[in-house]
Amino acid sequence: MVVGIGDDSAALKYGKKYLLLKTDMLVQDVHFSLKHSTPEQIGAKAIEQNVSDIASMGGLPKYALVSLALPKNTDVDFVDGLYKGINKKSGKYKISVVGGDLSQSSKVMVGIFLAGFVENKYLALRSGAKISDLIFCSGNAGKSAVGLELLKNNKKGKSIKTHLEPECRLDLARKLVKTGINSMIDVSDGVASEIGHICQESDVGAIIYADKIPMSKNTINDAKKLNKNPIDFALYGGEDFELVFTADKSKLNQFKKYDVKVIGEIVDKKYGIKLVKGGKKLNLGRGFDHFR
Ligand SMILES: [Mg+2]
Repeated sequence: MVVGIGDDSAALKYGKKYLLLKTDMLVQDVHFSLKHSTPEQIGAKAIEQNVSDIASMGGLPKYALVSLALPKNTDVDFVDGLYKGINKKSGKYKISVVGGDLSQSSKVMVGIFLAGFVENKYLALRSGAKISDLIFCSGNAGKSAVGLELLKNNKKGKSIKTHLEPECRLDLARKLVKTGINSMIDVSDGVASEIGHICQESDVGAIIYADKIPMSKNTINDAKKLNKNPIDFALYGGEDFELVFTADKSKLNQFKKYDVKVIGEIVDKKYGIKLVKGGKKLNLGRGFDHFR
């Protein structure tokens, strides 16, 4: 075993490749509400969030097992909807669903077990960041959390769809590992938290520039409706399924053609994790969770 608990997926030596294993569960009223999500959206999201953790290791997903737990009186249409979402995304990512389990429960639960592979040279870990690496973030951050907050406050906005129908960055992740990176993680708990994980596993510190973190117009507009600062959704929100990675400065030009932005730099551990925001340097330390 190369990596067990402590990265996005487990990685096991398997000839010239690593076998990547990941399991993640969606639970009704914890991860989704039947008031807001269609069964198809729930099935689709279950696959996306698992694929995201294979992508961030540099790999490609291959086989899935699907475990469902459903209340006794569940409609057949509901189950069909779940499978429609699961099958649509499995098709998109060339995943074979090879088995699963069905059980009775008081709440809807969708568990996915996903296996994938990565060539040895492309394996990306949280632990590979090096001092003076640039820190990059793909796409836009904060877009899902602001959508969830709109739903909770009975407000409307384009971010709601982004929250209910997330897309991970498998294609991009493969391009990044082929270009050459030192560490990577997917953004499931906010950019600040993910950089914290990289720093911890790599035994380094970081400087993050708040105004460089990429955010979409929709995120900014929808945050305004909530009287919230959009950057807080990007730093401390969740489920963006974007990628945060670090790479040597000399590679900067090669990354310019991709949908990624430099948001900071890896520094010696003794400097800790600092956020530069509005001309001030804030200590992020371990307090990543104050948004919750
Ligand atoms: Mg992850």
